[in-house]
Amino acid sequence: MSTHSTHALIHPAAPPKPPVGAPCNGCGLCCLLEPCPIGMLLSRKRRGACHWLHWSEEQQRYLCGAISEAPLGLLGEVRVRLARRWIAAGAGCDAQVQALDADTDTPQP
Ligand code: SF4
Ligand code: SF4
Repeated sequence: MSTHSTHALIHPAAPPKPPVGAPCNGCGLCCLLEPCPIGMLLSRKRRGACHWLHWSEEQQRYLCGAISEAPLGLLGEVRVRLARRWIAAGAGCDAQVQALDADTDTPQP
């Protein structure tokens, strides 16, 4: 399996990424690295942070704005279902990524 590293700015209060298969906790890592398919459509980009990802001070986690904020258009419910797959409480995390501390290059706790 090949590996590569890239950089993403992440909120210091973001929860650590859970293991693959564990419930999504809104760490935001997957959406900061590249948009999901629906995020690519809505953000019009294939790399980097999805425009629809935003930090919730109240919940202290990242939320997907495509679920609640984007006006329902042609994509409608399909968009909502797809977006929920990637970042939603209760859904399993499917991101095969690991966060490294930018200063020490060591895995974050
Ligand atoms: S699905 Fe994305 S936001 Fe949710 S826990 Fe996994 S990496 Fe974090
Ligand atoms: S789940 Fe939402 S915030 Fe994350 S990449 Fe997809 S559209 Fe963007």
